[in-house]
Amino acid sequence: MSVQSKIKLDGGEFMLKDVSPDQVFTTEDFSEEQRMIRDTVIEFIDREVWPVKKRFEENDYDLTVEMMKKIGDLGLLGVNVDQDYGGLGMDFIATMLVCDYISGATGSLGTAYGAHTGIAILPIYLYGNEEQKKKYLPKLCSGEWFGSYCLTEPTAGSDANSGKTKAELSEDGTHYLISGHKIWISNAGFANLFIVFAKIEDDKNLTGFIVPSDLSNGITLSEEEKKLGIHSSSTRQVFFENTKVPVENMLGERNGGFKIAMNALNVGRIKLGAAHLDGQRRVISGAVNYANNRVQFKQPISNFGSIKEKIAMMAISCYAGESSCYRAASDVQTKIDQFISNGLSKQESELKGVENFAIECSILKVGVSEDMQNCADEGIQIFGGMGFSAEVPMEAAWRDARIGRIYEGTNEINRMLMVGMLLKKAGKGELDLMSALQNAINDNVEDKPETINELKHEMSIVKKFKKIFLILLGKVFEKYGAEIEKNQQVLLALSDIMIETYFSESTLKRTIKNIKRSSIHDQSYQIEISKLYIYEASQIILKKSKDIIISACDNKTQKEILTQIEELVSYKENPNVFSIKRSIADKIISENKYCF
Ligand SMILES: Cc1cc2nc3c(=O)[nH]c(=O)nc-3n(C[C@H](O)[C@H](O)[C@H](O)COP(=O)(O)OP(=O)(O)OC[C@H]3O[C@@H](n4cnc5c(N)ncnc54)[C@H](O)[C@@H]3O)c2cc1C
Repeated sequence: MSVQSKIKLDGGEFMLKDVSPDQVFTTEDFSEEQRMIRDTVIEFIDREVWPVKKRFEENDYDLTVEMMKKIGDLGLLGVNVDQDYGGLGMDFIATMLVCDYISGATGSLGTAYGAHTGIAILPIYLYGNEEQKKKYLPKLCSGEWFGSYCLTEPTAGSDANSGKTKAELSEDGTHYLISGHKIWISNAGFANLFIVFAKIEDDKNLTGFIVPSDLSNGITLSEEEKKLGIHSSSTRQVFFENTKVPVENMLGERNGGFKIAMNALNVGRIKLGAAHLDGQRRVISGAVNYANNRVQFKQPISNFGSIKEKIAMMAISCYAGESSCYRAASDVQTKIDQFISNGLSKQESELKGVENFAIECSILKVGVSEDMQNCADEGIQIFGGMGFSAEVPMEAAWRDARIGRIYEGTNEINRMLMVGMLLKKAGKGELDLMSALQNAINDNVEDKPETINELKHEMSIVKKFKKIFLILLGKVFEKYGAEIEKNQQVLLALSDIMIETYFSESTLKRTIKNIKRSSIHDQSYQIEISKLYIYEASQIILKKSKDIIISACDNKTQKEILTQIEELVSYKENPNVFSIKRSIADKIISENKYCF
């Protein structure tokens, strides 16, 4: 199949169009090479990291460095960096797989790995010139050197472009003098270089610089921050005072730093989504194993409906997050291949490929980080009092999960971004939102007869989620016009509908694709997972829709639209959710681990 015919939907287009199961990549589609790299990571984590997990809770920064070096020895610090620069030159899916499985045991290592490979290596790999790439990447990929990304400042957090760090050109024009104060810098305690964002003179935008960590060059580090979680991830403030940086260390163009920072974050976000998957698998397996062994009222607590309810809900989120992450990873890779075949360089193609799917990157960052938090929370609950003890891994999983909602752009910022980017793409003519809106209003949502009877209703309802989104978007546009972007509560509610739609569709299409290549019988639990996830999503979408309608429509129209939306999410035959939950949980309980 040619690259052109393989790519069907662009980033964000999933909200406007249907996608066939064949177009959705699933974890069952991993190549031999991808499976091998996944198994290498699992084996490494189980052998080296899990047995010393407790030390990661004790601010053992040296342990993190030791593990990062071992990961470097395995070649896993430059998974998608070209072999010419010391990387493995593998595809985007492989990169996501490594992030996924390397982060499951402890968020400390996940954060160190993500900061180094995602936001420190990437700006050099994607924006560096040949000389910079040759000079720094081999050291960063081998683990001889480590990197940090210095964007945040005391007065510039979410508003990252408002940073005050200055770069002044020396009189002889050979170097810049950088002065400023960066905070919350991951890996700062052991980094050999910093990617620093600063403003040259009175520039409007930031410029990026590669700054070696030479403490005799005006660089001071604070003590390690005392944090709620990720205890062995180094986080420090970094002070620059007239730090001399040769002009050749400027990254990309002057004023181009904000773009570098944001594009690095796009990649960071999708990887952060993946980095919260194995944590969920491990929490579910740990919790079910405990529930099978803990006896109360003369029976294992896994016999109780209330425990089964939790196990099922944890599992459907994990399955949905996994389905969504790898679907998006493959779409990004296909887009990259498309750009390469159109003559762009590998780096430019990667940049544009990820940028094209920036909406999905935000969706995954938000959706999976919140699922990880809920999963760890329920994990604690299943352990009861023991869950509150630092002796069992649930407590650390819960604390470590909390940061996922804050860094790489808070979840609020990412929620607003995903709707904003959709509107921007439509404004630029990259998405045909107007036709989709018109079709939604004229009730033209195609409802083709489907072949998989067991999931017929779910196939139709996921399409209706999109219709509901479009109807609501039309209404809020009528009410707020271009001011919609200032109405944050509406944007947040719309973003939740986008997240639920993407997760529902990815779950459903994965299951359908697998039914087509195996059987209904083989996929019976996955069918139940899809049914349950989509039912739960329909209830969230109904609630969010009501909130939007109440804010955007007058009393008379409110009733009309609400009735329409209630009809769209209604079931002819409601799924027996309690029975489905028991069935999914029973399967996991019998396997004594997460098994999908
Ligand atoms: C452990 C840790 C590691 C980190 N690692 C790094 C790193 O390696 N490099 C780096 O540069 N930074 C790093 N950060 C910084 C992180 O990216 C920021 O903390 C984050 O972007 C939020 O910025 P802030 O803390 O200033 O919060 P603020 O921007 O002050 O936000 C506070 C609250 O206000 C909300 N808010 C802010 N603006 C808006 C708005 N326009 N509309 C609606 N709500 C809004 C936010 O969602 C949030 O809830 C790290 C932070 C932590 C805690």
